[in-house]
Amino acid sequence: MTDLVLEITPGIPIPSFMTGEVQSKLAYVDEQIVSAKVAPDGSQIIIYLKPTAVEDDQARIIARVQDVVALMVKGVIQPKVQILEDYQDRPVPSKVDPMQELLDKGEVSMEGRGIYTLGPLVTRLIDYFEKCFVELADFFSAVPYRFPTLISAKYLDRVNYFRAFPHSLSFVTHLREDLDNIDHFAQSTHWEGDGLNANPDSFSRIENLISPAVCYHWYFALADQKLKSDHLVATAVGTCFRYESSNLTTLERLWNFTMREIIFIGHGDYVLEQREIGRQRMTKILEEFGLAYRVESANDPFFVGEFRKQAAFQSAFQLKYEIRASLPFSGKTLAVGSYNYHQDFFGRNLNINLPDGSPIHTGCIAFGLERLAYAFLSQYGLDIKQWPAAVREGMQ
Ligand code: 5GP
Ligand code: ZN
Repeated sequence: MTDLVLEITPGIPIPSFMTGEVQSKLAYVDEQIVSAKVAPDGSQIIIYLKPTAVEDDQARIIARVQDVVALMVKGVIQPKVQILEDYQDRPVPSKVDPMQELLDKGEVSMEGRGIYTLGPLVTRLIDYFEKCFVELADFFSAVPYRFPTLISAKYLDRVNYFRAFPHSLSFVTHLREDLDNIDHFAQSTHWEGDGLNANPDSFSRIENLISPAVCYHWYFALADQKLKSDHLVATAVGTCFRYESSNLTTLERLWNFTMREIIFIGHGDYVLEQREIGRQRMTKILEEFGLAYRVESANDPFFVGEFRKQAAFQSAFQLKYEIRASLPFSGKTLAVGSYNYHQDFFGRNLNINLPDGSPIHTGCIAFGLERLAYAFLSQYGLDIKQWPAAVREGMQ
């Protein structure tokens, strides 16, 4: 048995702008880790271990933690964060984390790690947000789509998803078609500890996953085609899945969440222009919500090996802006939406071309509905009388 806590001095000091990124990745370093904390000044890492961790685990975990730090931090250059909007000073009435009250009132109930059922108040609030997003989509004459919850591993491979975000994938399997196998599973399988006791050999190879994003499905549907139009716009809402390991707490991070997207396809200048128009129109909508937030340049949570290069690329080309809502109870912010430009990445990898033969450029505006509700309730509380009039009236 170990003393369950490891205090590690990183071999390379972690700059403070990287502490959050490194901390979130440490959760994936080893199965014996319960949680990991990086000091705000980056000088120390504290790892909490499971009671089952033995002496031998320590050396391995320390070495892996140092590897992660080296891969993510060595030579990293602080990105220039561009702030496009700052309404963090907007006055809001609440300073309390709404999670406990939501649980007490049955407005939120936890089915499993990162899996929550939402009650009538939160559902109506999300329906109102959705109504506003659909109106925005209508402004762009976006056509509606319904995308599947499963997503093809074959296509995810074509867009390098396994290399960029392996840590957050969630796989789908089924029992191998074998009568003895299925019979054995039926007779012997039960929940045991933290999972099923089934033999891993009884499951099929992975053909599909559960989807981590919405817009990918549209690009996959258009793969290997030459489009008849110079530009297209679509909208869809979909359930998304990102495994967040021990980072799964409250509604801030969910394994299973919902995203509304407005998706643009065309030449680069068209996509960039639509993204900008969308952002400007959203400013008015977020004002109606009364949300305290800022919009700033950001990067996707790439896994350690890809992180430095990809994040720097995204930030150099301003490919991603996030709507970061204030969480007054913690003084932190939470990304509730993003404005994304993928350049011709999907066009090239999926062989989708415009009428002139050039690869499509793509972009999307994406809203995380549960996060938006959570941030709103963190700012306004559960008493609807305290809410902005537009939200109260819009919900009826
Ligand atoms: P993005 O594609 O920018 O990573 O995600 C778009 C939006 O989906 C984010 O701004 C956020 O609101 C939401 N989102 C992403 N990951 C999670 C998550 O783990 N949990 C929740 N609740 N929302 C998420
Ligand atoms: Zn998207």
